[in-house]
Amino acid sequence: MHKFLILTFLSILLVSACKSTKEFTGFSYDPPNVTDTTDREINPQKNRVIGIGSPKVWISNEFEGARVNDFYQSPDGAFQVDILPENAPINNSPWFAFKIWSEQPQTVQLRLAYPTSRNRYIPKITDENGTPMPIDMEEAEYDSATGSLTFELNLTEEATLVSAQKVTDSDYFDNWFSQITEANDVRQRVIGQSKQGRDLHEFTITNSSLNHPKGVLIILSRQHPPEVAGYLTAEHFIKYIATDNSELTQLFRDHFVTLAYPLINPDGVMNGHWRHNAAGVDLNRDWVNFNQPETKAVTDAILHATQDSTLQVYYGIDFHSTNENIFYPINEEVVTRPDNVTQRWAVEVIKDNPDILFVSEEFDTSSPISKNWIYRTFGADAVTFEVHDELSHDQVESMAVSAAKSLMQLLLREKGVDITEN
Ligand SMILES: [Zn+2]
Repeated sequence: MHKFLILTFLSILLVSACKSTKEFTGFSYDPPNVTDTTDREINPQKNRVIGIGSPKVWISNEFEGARVNDFYQSPDGAFQVDILPENAPINNSPWFAFKIWSEQPQTVQLRLAYPTSRNRYIPKITDENGTPMPIDMEEAEYDSATGSLTFELNLTEEATLVSAQKVTDSDYFDNWFSQITEANDVRQRVIGQSKQGRDLHEFTITNSSLNHPKGVLIILSRQHPPEVAGYLTAEHFIKYIATDNSELTQLFRDHFVTLAYPLINPDGVMNGHWRHNAAGVDLNRDWVNFNQPETKAVTDAILHATQDSTLQVYYGIDFHSTNENIFYPINEEVVTRPDNVTQRWAVEVIKDNPDILFVSEEFDTSSPISKNWIYRTFGADAVTFEVHDELSHDQVESMAVSAAKSLMQLLLREKGVDITEN
């Protein structure tokens, strides 16, 4: 009875939380013709170092993940950074990242300006430990007419990294990929190349010593470059399934194969894109036509990995981020095998993370996105899981770990595995 009451209470929370998404913010706006995924023209940023003013202030976008389109001093004396997207139309995910320094220590007014958009991310200053620390937004000035954000910044001769989110370059991914591949039950494979020739990676996590029929869990992430919170959630989620040695996780590796594709849009990430791949296309609208090499490679790899008739796809998660934590489940009326996994999992995730607000908004299966491809191809349930852009890294880690545990329990029960001791 008690448990029932808690569940009822949580469902009411979930339902009432749904209503808040009605206050549409425009962040998940889809421009017209977004489902035409043939190649479009890109306006690449010029990678350069610009110095202005006296004493001189320098800015650089000569590194992976950087984005700066112009830098100049505006009439009020503020140092203005113009940020433009890779192409348009595009939704409002204005990624920026640059290094900035001065020939003499000084405090400047720095303005982030978006000629075609408006500020979205809280700027972060990366400290000496490599941790991006959000600026105090109380002290920053947002201009609602232009969408620009102005704040004070102390500069020295040493470069300060300012970015929308944590910058993840190819060294970062190489490191993480090799770390995860060291785990006993993980195999790594290059499944193809991006538009610009970067490797696309697949991680297969399972205990190969056991040979009974297995379930399959599919994990996708980073189709959209600035969605770092979603990516980091996927990272902790994958790491936990791959390396945790509790009885639960070992049972999961015995009974399930996890197929993970954590970096689907490496070109967009390295080029500091707002949303698209190097062909100017939103990859998460290309899961019907497969015009882009990234979506083609990932779906070919999943089809290849699941062709063994003893495997059954149970569930898929595509990690994203936006300005709130949202589950986008497949509509409850659509029958999947197993059914309503997201709805049941969301109850557990909400219960385990009382300090984080989650909402849920169901969709039909018509749009050409990854979760609908998983449903159409395998009849399985799948979710787009949006993580709040501004969750702290500690929050992301604890939420990801608890979410991995509750999903493993749910899927093992669904497969009829006795997990009473967990
Ligand atoms: Zn996204």
